[in-house]
Amino acid sequence: MAGERKYIYRFGNHALDGDASMSAELGGKGAGLAEMTLLGIPVPPGITISTGVCRFYLEHGAFPTDFEEELGASLAWLEDSVGRKFGDPRNPLLASVRSGAAISMPGMMDTILNVGLTRESIHGLAAQSGSLRFALDSYRRLLQMFGAVVLEVPKKEFDNVLETIRADEAALRDSELSEAGLQSVIEGFHQAIERCAQTSFPQTAVQQLSMAVHAVFKSWRNERAQYYRRLNGIPDDLGTAVTVQAMVFGNVDQRSGTGVGFTRNPSTGENSILGEYLANAQGEDIVAGTRTPMPISELAESMPEIYEELFAITGTLERHFRDVQDFEFTVEKGKLFLLQTRAAKRSALAAVRIAVEMVETGLISSSEAVARISPATINEILAPQLDFSQGVPEVLARGLPASPGAAVGRIALTAVAAAGALHGDPVILVSQETTADDIHGIVAAAGLLTACGGVTSHAAVVARGMGKCCITAAKDIFVDSDIGVLRIGEAVFHEGDWLSLDASSGRIFAGKVPLRAADGENAGLRSILRWAIDQSPLAVRANADTPEDASAARARDARGIGLCRTEHMFFALERLPHVRAMILARNTPERKRSLNELLPMQQQDFEGLFREMSSLPVTIRLLDPPLHEFLPPRKDVDAELLLARSENDAGAIQRAELFLERMQALSETNPMMGHRGCRLSITYPEILEMQVRAILQAALKVAAEGFVPLPEIMVPFVASAEEMQCLRRLIDEAANEVFANHGESIDYSIGTMIELPRAAVCAGAIVEHVSFVSFGTNDLTQMTFGFSRDDAGKYIDAYLNQGILKSDPFATIDRGGVGGLMELAIRQMRARKPEIKIGVCGEHGGDPASIEFFVSIGVDYVSCSPARLPVAQLAMAQTQPLRRIAVPGQEHVSQC
Ligand code: ADP
Ligand code: MG
Ligand code: MG
Repeated sequence: MAGERKYIYRFGNHALDGDASMSAELGGKGAGLAEMTLLGIPVPPGITISTGVCRFYLEHGAFPTDFEEELGASLAWLEDSVGRKFGDPRNPLLASVRSGAAISMPGMMDTILNVGLTRESIHGLAAQSGSLRFALDSYRRLLQMFGAVVLEVPKKEFDNVLETIRADEAALRDSELSEAGLQSVIEGFHQAIERCAQTSFPQTAVQQLSMAVHAVFKSWRNERAQYYRRLNGIPDDLGTAVTVQAMVFGNVDQRSGTGVGFTRNPSTGENSILGEYLANAQGEDIVAGTRTPMPISELAESMPEIYEELFAITGTLERHFRDVQDFEFTVEKGKLFLLQTRAAKRSALAAVRIAVEMVETGLISSSEAVARISPATINEILAPQLDFSQGVPEVLARGLPASPGAAVGRIALTAVAAAGALHGDPVILVSQETTADDIHGIVAAAGLLTACGGVTSHAAVVARGMGKCCITAAKDIFVDSDIGVLRIGEAVFHEGDWLSLDASSGRIFAGKVPLRAADGENAGLRSILRWAIDQSPLAVRANADTPEDASAARARDARGIGLCRTEHMFFALERLPHVRAMILARNTPERKRSLNELLPMQQQDFEGLFREMSSLPVTIRLLDPPLHEFLPPRKDVDAELLLARSENDAGAIQRAELFLERMQALSETNPMMGHRGCRLSITYPEILEMQVRAILQAALKVAAEGFVPLPEIMVPFVASAEEMQCLRRLIDEAANEVFANHGESIDYSIGTMIELPRAAVCAGAIVEHVSFVSFGTNDLTQMTFGFSRDDAGKYIDAYLNQGILKSDPFATIDRGGVGGLMELAIRQMRARKPEIKIGVCGEHGGDPASIEFFVSIGVDYVSCSPARLPVAQLAMAQTQPLRRIAVPGQEHVSQC
């Protein structure tokens, strides 16, 4: 080896040059091939050029100085291993030049097969294999792939040539073309290349190899690969490895073929091999989705020994890698070769089932199972299904169920049309072929439907990875995207028409079939979540406003209520009149009278919450929104006044006039920053008193019934320590009065929300007056950015599109700004009061990326809506155990 660094690794033919752990350098494909060599599995020999060379190449536009030398030596080894030479006209060595990144990106980069074949060596290959037809077919494939990838000739050019000649010969498939037909195809391809690329196809193996390697490196930067990386958060600077591998031929004869499979069903998770096979074909035919292959069971019939061998090998691979494998293989004249193995992409449904079954059989541990389920995907498991309760509509057509779920949407016939419809009704992308080029459209679509391709096509793989429902190989559909028409049998559809897919069964329906929620819970998911909660470093609570919410939260194992918004109870129909009377009151005694009416109702709500959450903490937030939110719309009152006047009803006129007057008095220019939160308690302490009384009387009552209430009273929208000091005194006074009246007391704690930047900066002073705090990240985000959540939709998209914001700060916490304030607050608080309990409520409490951040800065729990509990519980289990950041006594505390 030249130089200090190793650029190239060998595999196959007993080379012991790398293993599965080296995917960063070898790419997943290269590492898998190296590992298969170690396991003694038959793989055609080859070499893998490391991702480091790609990074160097992309940066400098050239290879490292000592690279060429190492490449020469490695290719010589490959020639020796196979016993053929590159460019030898009588016995040419042909190779595939394959891309392979550390993180699998199916179909996003390029691969070229049959590299090394020239006009001259066609005859050598024909002699070697005994088939001229095969040699011609291999050459035309090389021209097609090399032309498209390296010379950037539009694919359509080649398709046109093929279509014309297929029509001339009345051949349905490429494989039915005669030798003469193939000769014409080759001439047509040569001409297309010369016309479009202004150059002729290189006629030496060395030149082809070198150009192919360059092109594969460059394909790291092609548009769809970049897009896929952005979508999946894959760093842009990893680079791809390039594997140059001796070809084996699935297109020699009928005892040859190519296939792709999964060791378990990647759509449902069922534990049986799912695969596809095409006799007399090369691998690209399947994964590119241009032909519909046969189920792998066909191989079991036509070549049972090969099927047995494959079954044994893939079983070994699954046990060895301890995960479901996605494998590619080729059979050449009755001999089996594995070409690729990798952890299979799978639907969320399959991921859960597979992980649980692997725990049951002892292949993986429960914590590995938890780690394998991506929190963002589990809602798919409970995604809506088509509702057949009114009967099953006529089935228009059927295809293969390639990715589970249901979709109802408008037809889009091109990726561009689908992507363009991003903000309107859901769309279903319908296309003739299942190609990964359509990635933009796949992202935008609710569902995919294709005429060709199989369940192993790259586009199906990508759809499963994204949780999109997908039906492939619906052979009765025909898409004519040129005239914008979709034919299904006799029926004709246009873009914008509605279509419904039941991708779990592969059935296609016209129009809009209604959707219904999925039945109940998934048993596998329940196991995963139980394991997740057991191994979680921190608690996940739920936001719940009513006893019903609380009961749903408890059923989902919430560790308490992190936020009960009392105002939601005020909106109930029978209460609103009292709430309004309270607001309209002209003086304190009047207000107290209305509050007294509300008290028993509030108390009842809290009793319900405490019963549901016995032994678990319940954080109840005092009234937060501006009062005018409880008043009716202005126009309704105007109408009432008009009516009263027309009827000359003096009492009604007076009531309506008073209403209007109070509405005007209460109306605010900017209510979000208005008379709300603790400001209400400062100005109308009797509201706070009523709520505290309701909370503690409820607690006393249910405690007497034998429940264990753990009330936490939380003050919203605090900006200063002085506010908190004042309100804490009021709460304690109200509490003492309750206890004096009842002759018994109960524990309660007082806390505040930190949702104003000032509160975060002054948290060290505020914390003196509370025993817990909860970050209200929604308001804190609004106030820190100065973005109103209700209006931000108008400009946030532009920020996201231009990359000014990386993600929506209302969905994922802004670590630098809002998160920075949180860190500052936590440091100060822990310095002053190490035992302070710190939580997060707000939408971010259910977002995996935000949860990871919250744990890293030292919060004690998060709280989210009951619907998001499973996602949050799983995300929590996947965070690293807490690292406390504050060292008491060493932190600066601002002078608030
Ligand atoms: P992708 O990453 O797009 O799957 P691959 O590099 O795996 O691309 O190549 C695509 C297909 O080409 C494979 O499925 C395989 O069947 C076929 N192929 C690649 N290398 C060889 C080879 N050395 N011999 C025969 N077929 C090959
Ligand atoms: Mg592949
Ligand atoms: Mg708030």
